[in-house]
Amino acid sequence: MKIEKNTAALDLFRLAAMVLVIINHTSPLASYSTVWDFWLTRILARIAVPFFLMTSGYFLVKNNWHSLGHFIKKLCLLYGLSVLLYLPLNLYNKHFTGPVDFLHQLLTDGTFYHLWYFPAVILGAILARQLSRLGPRLSLLLAVLLYLVGLGGDSYYGLVTQSLPLKTMYHGIFLVFDYTRNGLFLAPLFLLLGAVGRHWNRRISAFGLCISLLAMSAEAFWLRSLGVQRHSAMYLTLPLCMMFLFSLLLNSNRSEAPELRRLSTLVYILHPWCIILVRGSASFLGWEHLFIQNSLLHFFAVLLLSLGLSRLLLALRPLPQHPSNRAWREVDLEALAHNARILRRALPPESRLMAVVKADAYGHGAIPVARCLQKADIHAFAVACLTEGIALRRAGIRGLILILGYTPPAAVPLLARWRLTQAVVDLDHAKALSACGCRIHVHLALDTGMHRLGLPVEDKEAISTVYALPHLVIDGVFSHLCMADNTAEEGQHYTQNQLTAFYDTIDWMRTVGLDPGHIHIQASYGIWNLPPQHCSYARAGIALYGIYSDTATVHRPLELQPVLSLRARVATVRTLHAGECAGYGLAFQAFRQTRLAIITIGYADGLPRDLPQRGGEVLLHGRRCPMVGKICMDQLLVDVTELPKLQPGDIATIIGRDGCCEIRAEELAEHCETITNELLSRLGNRLTLSTYSLPRNH
Ligand SMILES: *Cc1c(COP(=O)(O)O)cnc(C)c1O
Repeated sequence: MKIEKNTAALDLFRLAAMVLVIINHTSPLASYSTVWDFWLTRILARIAVPFFLMTSGYFLVKNNWHSLGHFIKKLCLLYGLSVLLYLPLNLYNKHFTGPVDFLHQLLTDGTFYHLWYFPAVILGAILARQLSRLGPRLSLLLAVLLYLVGLGGDSYYGLVTQSLPLKTMYHGIFLVFDYTRNGLFLAPLFLLLGAVGRHWNRRISAFGLCISLLAMSAEAFWLRSLGVQRHSAMYLTLPLCMMFLFSLLLNSNRSEAPELRRLSTLVYILHPWCIILVRGSASFLGWEHLFIQNSLLHFFAVLLLSLGLSRLLLALRPLPQHPSNRAWREVDLEALAHNARILRRALPPESRLMAVVKADAYGHGAIPVARCLQKADIHAFAVACLTEGIALRRAGIRGLILILGYTPPAAVPLLARWRLTQAVVDLDHAKALSACGCRIHVHLALDTGMHRLGLPVEDKEAISTVYALPHLVIDGVFSHLCMADNTAEEGQHYTQNQLTAFYDTIDWMRTVGLDPGHIHIQASYGIWNLPPQHCSYARAGIALYGIYSDTATVHRPLELQPVLSLRARVATVRTLHAGECAGYGLAFQAFRQTRLAIITIGYADGLPRDLPQRGGEVLLHGRRCPMVGKICMDQLLVDVTELPKLQPGDIATIIGRDGCCEIRAEELAEHCETITNELLSRLGNRLTLSTYSLPRNH
């Protein structure tokens, strides 16, 4: 149950950190007190950047570093845009001595004063990832050493460079970087500390934070009195301070506020322009004494302008059409890739996996599914018809695409145009395809006992005739098993006969000099119930989606994961008195006071109308609730008397997990007295489809 308070401490603190960055760049107390100004800008404000680094590290590790590529890509994009945004100012100020200088700054110091953060976090993240491979202790130790080197070039510079070799070393460093506060010396430690995500209880964290902040203030004022600081971004006590602060925030972080994240990023990027705008307009209007000389007013003007401008930009951003507005399918691509791996491992080495993605990949979305599998190194796909094959090619799917069903001969030019391989369903089909005079690739279907498609295995003459036809390039021969899911003796016997007929025919073909090419006969149940077959392909459909067709057992179960979840929302909740009825035909009658939730999914989305009468349930707040009444076209009714906290907008799970409860597709199919294949392939196309990929440990 999600009754937690809506606290997004990490994201909320981003805004505070943002204000600190602006403080750092505007010195609000400068016209009042140099000491307090030093404390505010050179001490307190120094926690902002380490905080951003720690949150990045924290989330990167939460994803097992899998999102590092995506993270870096996004940063590069933001960095590029920011560099462009400040290019006019840099050009106006003749900031670059030439293209080499520009490139050098781009890679090290960020081209504009606040932009140093981007190259630093990019380099830091790559470095931290590499360090983290060495184990938690060694990586932290090395990061601490790098930080110490950075410290020597920052606030301890005057002390450290009393030694000549060190002075030379820092001289070398400063030829490359302007400061040691960068991706090499500063960023790795804070990224890794964030990654550790250590938290103590609230009291210890708050106490530790106060003490370490005091210590950092003492350290900074001491260094200031010695006059040894070259720069003042790094202190010995800063990491300690950050660990307590982060621990405090982690203790109260329960949810996310992506809007705040975007806002703070925009404020970060835009505020230097706002400083210039405030100063420019103050001069223009003759208000220098207000908005330039008064540092506090200056700061507030910059802050408000930055926030206002960022809000405006966010508001102008086109709203993404949220894919989860009413009822939707969620497709877990990581589970799909996992299943493909498991299935391949179950096949003998010479057998490859052919992914059956017909009927919109059994309702999972043929294009995202095929793209994901292509990335996972699968290069053979099967579809039911021409349009499905063309759709895959248009989406950039390469390799073999086999059309398992009938294609009218008139469409032969399209087969050739899209390099699709056609199944030959009988002798007449073969002749008609050949007669088009267009060279196409085909696989011969053999009928070994299903009596659906294919040339009968007994008809050797027909097989020879097909081989003699012009224009058909026969790349393969296959058959389909119709009893492989039946583990009873008669089923196994029938399957064995089909296999024998298939292999005998293949042997005969080879002896008479007809090359069968790639051979294949197993579908999912052939993989689960038969010993490994020495074929070129196994055509997996339902197994790829991580479910069985029904609840019967198989000989060789594999560790597959369901790929699809089906969800909808609570539209409204209402109370019925005992005796009142609800829904079409008043099919539901409340025998006690009952709370009814109306869920936004119906038979137009693929659920059978009498599912409630067959025991259908949905998950709400992690609990099973019974469907009642008759399913409507766009809605269904659920008895939620047990869930007093249910609210409109809450998510209902029809297939999938919610908390520790799960409704599997097999269960739903059993209620409907059908197989999951039918249920899923019939899901309505009004359901939006959202794919996601949560990396997990294998
Ligand atoms: C649909 C189909 C498959 C895939 O079947 P699953 O049981 O879903 O694995 C394989 N071969 C042919 C000929 C099919 O029609």
